[in-house]
Amino acid sequence: MSRGMGGPGMRGGFMTEEEKAAAPKVTWPLVKRVLSWLKPYRLQMVIVLIAIALSSVLSIMPSVLTGRIIDEGLIARNMQALVTLIILSLAVTLGSNLIGVLESWLNTWIAQHIVFDMRNQMYRKLQSMSQRFFTTNNQGDIITRMTSDIDGVRQVITSTFTSIISNVITLIVALIAMFQKNWVLALLGIVIVPLFTLPTRKAGKTRWALTRESQECNDEINGILNETLSVSGQLLVKLFNKEDVEYEKYVAANEKMIQLNIKESMAGRWFRVVITTISSVGPMLLYLVGGILMMKYDSSITVGDISVLVALLGRMYGPVNSLLNIQVDWLRAMAMFTRIFDYYDMPVEIQNPENPVHLTDPHGNIRFDHVYFYYDEDRMILNDVDFELAEGNSVAIVGPSGSGKSTTVNLIPRLYDVVDGRVTFDGIDVRDIDLSDLRDNVGIVTQETYLFNGTILENLLYAKPDATQEEIEDACRKANIHDFIAAQPDGYNTMVGNRGLKLSGGEKQRLSIARVLLKDPTVMIFDEATSSLDSISENAIQEAIDPLIDSRTSILIAHRLSTILHADEILVLKDGHIVERGKHKDLVELGGVYTELYNTQFAKAKELDTQA
Ligand code: ATP
Repeated sequence: MSRGMGGPGMRGGFMTEEEKAAAPKVTWPLVKRVLSWLKPYRLQMVIVLIAIALSSVLSIMPSVLTGRIIDEGLIARNMQALVTLIILSLAVTLGSNLIGVLESWLNTWIAQHIVFDMRNQMYRKLQSMSQRFFTTNNQGDIITRMTSDIDGVRQVITSTFTSIISNVITLIVALIAMFQKNWVLALLGIVIVPLFTLPTRKAGKTRWALTRESQECNDEINGILNETLSVSGQLLVKLFNKEDVEYEKYVAANEKMIQLNIKESMAGRWFRVVITTISSVGPMLLYLVGGILMMKYDSSITVGDISVLVALLGRMYGPVNSLLNIQVDWLRAMAMFTRIFDYYDMPVEIQNPENPVHLTDPHGNIRFDHVYFYYDEDRMILNDVDFELAEGNSVAIVGPSGSGKSTTVNLIPRLYDVVDGRVTFDGIDVRDIDLSDLRDNVGIVTQETYLFNGTILENLLYAKPDATQEEIEDACRKANIHDFIAAQPDGYNTMVGNRGLKLSGGEKQRLSIARVLLKDPTVMIFDEATSSLDSISENAIQEAIDPLIDSRTSILIAHRLSTILHADEILVLKDGHIVERGKHKDLVELGGVYTELYNTQFAKAKELDTQA
């Protein structure tokens, strides 16, 4: 806990223009909401309050005892009183510190538990957010909320709240003690303290500005490191031969940082000079006025009294300085809470219905009933998409890039909800079905394969944690990847690397097919990757997919002719409209969009087709 000159951390006392502009309105509901997080720990908080009060009072005692040590011990030349008072003073200091330890421990405990609660709730909340949220928001921002903002709360609890209380108590006790000794000198003290804390604030401000600048510089350096030392960033740097350029950028930022650090530490040095000089003026003034009073007017003042007053004065600078910063600390804390609460309050776009229908006997009949959809209101992506897929059948969706194929299939497991019309599963609107039932029954092999950094086995088990070795191998055989895995020195325990980057594109795809197969969904969706794979990889994937299409209800976003040929129906999508539909033969003869796709996209496959 920080109760030093600058309040909670040196950064405490000042706000940036941005912060001032974004300062939240502190309303009663907001305060109440903040307090509601503290509520479960109110008993502990009461103990903390008592401990703070006790330790603050005790910490003032030695200053008061100093006076008696001087008067009753030293000046009166009373050895016994001297020793007793010294022991008492030491005991009080020890007591105050021991209580301080208890208080810090409890305080940290409370803060950590509140952070624990907040983090968990935030993680749950973020998980409930829709795909739209994650595609729209910056990943860095999301992580910052989870980490820095919530960590800020910990700081607020361990430092701001407690320092306010302890400072107020210390000040009150010190003032009472001062007035008891001598009211004239006490009044002088009251005038001196604020007078001398203000200039230190000014010095602090300069240093704070430098700290901020160096923080920004630090962010810049982190940015460079993050971008250029990540797997994909490093690849880009290498491929474009930018090592030297990046190195120079890094050196420049690093140099700026060094300059700032030197400046900052020197500003700190001057700051200390100012503080020590100023804080020595106060006691001198008290000695002077006290001396005049003692020698010329009021003989009842003792040397001890004056020493006590000087010691108490020294104890007042810190709390006064901190309390001058309270408003800023308070606003900053509230801003942090507001940012966190904003996240908690974000509407959840895709929710489980109130009375969900459970899929007890799923068949996988899918119907798109005049579906309209957009991501942003000003641009319709799907226009009156209407088709049906009966159990056991398969439909291939083809169309130019960006025509809305992936969007269409994403509506089935409710990654997004339709804007108009409806998507049904076994005749039930997907929005009425229990979300986890729905997603259990729909498996998507996405265009981009995501694997966690772990072993092949761990990645597969993600789909079905209790899968047996046979089930796993069976799925991998079907996905045409078992032989590859078995040939690895570590077999199923082979590490896939960061995001699976140690595997080839084709291997990753087959692995993700195996993963979906393990999940064993009623409806299977393949969003075939557009990225060209070599023909051996393509064949391997093809061999994996073909039997699956024949054996289960499936939707294929197809770029390869052989996949398309396996489908029972082909839908041709263009600009979000189904412009043609039917069998391959009929569509080719139509001479429309499909024919064009056939002539261009499927050209390579077409050659093979005609050869066959
Ligand atoms: P491809 O064959 O290239 O994968 P696609 O037919 O699957 O294309 P979609 O991914 O469905 O096309 O995208 C349809 C349109 O919607 C595109 O124009 C795309 O720019 C837009 N789009 C896709 N995702 C989003 C999103 N999250 N937010 C806004 N617009 C999006």
